[in-house]
Amino acid sequence: MFEIEKRFTFHAAHQLKHHDGVCHRLHGHSYELIVRLKSEVLHTSGPQTNMVVDFALLKNEVQAMIDEYLDHRFLNETLETDSPTAEFIAEWIYKKLKISILRLSSISLFETASSSVTYSE
Ligand SMILES: [Zn+2]
Repeated sequence: MFEIEKRFTFHAAHQLKHHDGVCHRLHGHSYELIVRLKSEVLHTSGPQTNMVVDFALLKNEVQAMIDEYLDHRFLNETLETDSPTAEFIAEWIYKKLKISILRLSSISLFETASSSVTYSE
C-alpha cells in the first residue's frame, strides 16, 4: 500500500463564539494542512507512470480550494458556522476534497505547531 502526502499552508481568521476562553475573540492562525492519498496500485501508463498521482496535479486541486475558501478568509463566514474549530475545518476540508480527489485517505490540520487534528472516514 502506498500513502503519499502533500503539505500546504494558509492564513485565516476565526472566532469561536461559544468558547469560554480567549478563543471567543477574533484572532488568526497560520494553518498547516497535510493531504494524504492511499493506493495499492500505481499508474501503469501515461505521464503518471509509476505514480499514485502527480504531486503537481494534487497541488493544483488542493490550492484552488484553499484560495477560494480558506486563505486570508474569515472562516466563520466562508464555512458558515459560528464555531470553526480545527475539527470542524478538517472535516469540512476532507468532504470538499473527497468530491474531486479519488484516493483521498485522510487530512491533518495543524492550528499551531503542537495542536492538530486528523480526519478520515
Ligand atoms: Zn483559534
